[in-house]
Amino acid sequence: MALKRLSGKIAIVTASTDGIGLAIARRLGNEGAKVIISSRKEPNVLRATKELTDEGLEVKGLVCHVSNQDERNKLFEEAKKLGGLDILVSNAAVNPFFGGMLDCDEKMFDKIFDVNVKSSFLLAREALPFLRKSQQGRIIFISSISAYMVDDILGPYSFSKTALLGLTKTIAKHLGPDGITVNCVCPGHIETRFSHVMRKTDEIMKEELKKIPMGRLGQAHEIAPLIAFLASEDGSYITGENIVAAGGLKTRI
Ligand code: NAP
Repeated sequence: MALKRLSGKIAIVTASTDGIGLAIARRLGNEGAKVIISSRKEPNVLRATKELTDEGLEVKGLVCHVSNQDERNKLFEEAKKLGGLDILVSNAAVNPFFGGMLDCDEKMFDKIFDVNVKSSFLLAREALPFLRKSQQGRIIFISSISAYMVDDILGPYSFSKTALLGLTKTIAKHLGPDGITVNCVCPGHIETRFSHVMRKTDEIMKEELKKIPMGRLGQAHEIAPLIAFLASEDGSYITGENIVAAGGLKTRI
């Protein structure tokens, strides 16, 4: 890894013991950042922390369900111990419901929006006192190509991801004067546990691949460099943007 753009930086990446979050933590760590990783389940936190530490990266692992205020506080307490916070990557999302928007009941709606949208907003707000002190404050939300799709299978999930596009624009406007950039990355179909349902049968997979101009799924390590770029000095004049990495899938709402 030649690039070391994040030496001396401290980063929080949520939902980072697997998939895209883990790849982001690895990339930020490889570029020189100290990274606080987390997820809901302690065994996952221990495994991922060991994995990254064994690779020589400076990583601290904590249990944090992003909807839990006390557990979110612990992320910031840890950042304080390390010396502050420069980069927040809000990556957690759930999708407990498959179906169209109008078939989604209130309980499901609340769960999806609580994790996918509200926790991203709260994390960003809680990070502000730290990011304002940083010379290079960065907030990066992980949305999805689904944000751009009107979908009968991923209805409320897609809507929650569209909400993040708006959150990015709104917060970026307010934080511009503080020198804090706020951006959003929208991955396409990435081969992780989260998306396995989209590959359940050969037939579903074939249909899925037909839609993707590049004709293949993405890998988590193909998303991480975009986050490292936005987090670094190289991304210093980019804010309020929703950036898609989806193998050519269309991005018009
Ligand atoms: P993944 O491989 O299934 O990993 C999910 C990670 O999130 C795990 O570390 C999991 O660990 C943690 N997690 C789940 N719920 C959490 C919560 N409430 N609080 C904290 N941590 C939580 O998923 P992924 O595919 O990398 O997805 C990551 C992000 O990318 C999500 O925002 C997703 O919407 C987005 N995305 C994914 C795709 C795709 O095709 N994979 C496409 C577009 C966007 P624990 O079980 O220990 O909590």
